[in-house]
Amino acid sequence: MSEHKDFLRTIVDEDLKSGKYKKIITRFPPEPNGFPHIGHAKSICINFGIARDYNGYCNLRMDDTNPTTEDTKYVEALKDAVKWLGFDWNDDVYFTSDYFPKIYDYAVELVKMGKAYVDSLNEEEIREYRGTVNEAGRRSIYAERSIEENLDLLERMKKGEFKEGEHILRAKIDMSAANMKMRDPLLYRIRHAHHFRTQDEWCIYPMYDFAHCLSDYIEGVSHSICTLEFENNRDIYDWVLDTLNLVPPRPYQHEFARLGINYTVMSKRKLLELVNGNYVNGWDDPRLPTIAGYKRRGYTPESILNFCDQIGIAKANSMVDVSQLEFCIRDDLNTKVPRVMCVLEPLKVTIENYEGSEEIEASYYPHDVPKEGSRKIPFSKVIYIEREDFEENPPKDYNRLTLEQPVRLRHAYIITCKEIIKDANGNIVEIKAEYNPTSKSGSDTSGIKVKSAIQWVDAAQAKEIEVRLYDRLYSCEAPDGLEDLNPNSLHIIKNALVEPAVITDSADVRFQFERQGYFYADPIDYTNEKPVFNKIVGLKDSWAK
Ligand code: ATP
Ligand code: MG
Ligand code: MG
Repeated sequence: MSEHKDFLRTIVDEDLKSGKYKKIITRFPPEPNGFPHIGHAKSICINFGIARDYNGYCNLRMDDTNPTTEDTKYVEALKDAVKWLGFDWNDDVYFTSDYFPKIYDYAVELVKMGKAYVDSLNEEEIREYRGTVNEAGRRSIYAERSIEENLDLLERMKKGEFKEGEHILRAKIDMSAANMKMRDPLLYRIRHAHHFRTQDEWCIYPMYDFAHCLSDYIEGVSHSICTLEFENNRDIYDWVLDTLNLVPPRPYQHEFARLGINYTVMSKRKLLELVNGNYVNGWDDPRLPTIAGYKRRGYTPESILNFCDQIGIAKANSMVDVSQLEFCIRDDLNTKVPRVMCVLEPLKVTIENYEGSEEIEASYYPHDVPKEGSRKIPFSKVIYIEREDFEENPPKDYNRLTLEQPVRLRHAYIITCKEIIKDANGNIVEIKAEYNPTSKSGSDTSGIKVKSAIQWVDAAQAKEIEVRLYDRLYSCEAPDGLEDLNPNSLHIIKNALVEPAVITDSADVRFQFERQGYFYADPIDYTNEKPVFNKIVGLKDSWAK
């Protein structure tokens, strides 16, 4: 736990001190209607993190009260995300739908208390009767129904005797409340839909405002932590639990600021649109801000946890710069992953004065990374360098290979360009070069000064890989819709070349391709015969220009 306590932990401290709760029980309550995103990661960190810090526990509860949008595949994705981030829930996964019978009993109780009624206005009338911020609403004539009549109608709603929208159950609170949400909120609605768990058992479903507080109470939750947009729902939360005179202790709701990140969208509804419309390749597309997307791209759980820790828990909404997340993954991988060489766009170089071949022992890690390990890099007469590491007509500050300027081959020798070979269209197809035998890295006595070292691979032994380079999914900071999608968010290079050490039997590997960035063997598509690597992140923040 960091030294400076966030406001939620301060509340928990006070509640423990005052004896309000003996045990801290939180919950993470997603609706299984999409894959979880990094906003959910923040909520997961908060809820599971507080439970861990206070020796309590956190429930994973599927808030499955909306039968038309929910599915088991989303339940699995949510479980995977929580586990991947390193947390574990108390007991089994819970489902609000398991509480439907209890929640219904509470509804009957409210009706018996005269605190809830069956309304038969239509949607439009309900809206109109509710009034506005400046104008009190008026109560429906149906609010005068007797308790007996309400009980009878509610039961018949449950039995399926009515059409959708014909009746609803409402709390009887205050049609002139300043908080509009308190103007007789809806508790139950009719939905003749198939539910993925309760099947066709129910045709009435509790509204969020009724189901959520009661589910928290049923589970013995102490702190019900949600995002700021539920601030106005807190009054209903309290009203339901207080009106029902439940045995204490009861949970209280606390709100924190939702996480927003620029250059992407975050709501499951918008993400679903991208997935269903094939604007991306599934929920785990590495361009998406979904946990599955980050995982497939090669982000580590540690980097996401660090990010959530860094951004902190605030009470005011704000937009976080995506480069902050990129900093976290770079920072994590820097001390963990081996450095190797990859050439994305190969340019052939023939070293005319080199004969035979050799293997160069090269460390996997730079001096400032306290890790050991090395591999042998094959070297011979024909190699490939990055096309952009040679310039025939270099700009002023160019410090790589030119006709006049030598360059070091990383871990190997200094080479000098002797001749450029072009094809019929004037494209450079080969460089003829010479190396200096006394310039070998580590034992250089040549005295030649070079301005940089470039990556290369041995032509005879290099392996071909596919490289998937990702850019921002949207081209503007606060995307509005599909028209803001970045058309170049995915760039695939089919024939990049790597040194042999990159190809291993295990697909779960990350490398730094020197000077290119951090890469991850795609967990789905990678095979030894056709290796595929995803670019996780570049080496430095190329956006901070
Ligand atoms: P979305 O609109 O993206 O689907 P949601 O709030 O409807 O989000 P739920 O599945 O209901 O998603 O959310 C589960 C939990 O995760 C809730 O407690 C919610 O407040 C939290 N959560 C969702 N999005 C964010 C976010 N961007 N930042 C922080 N917490 C979030
Ligand atoms: Mg929700
Ligand atoms: Mg939502």
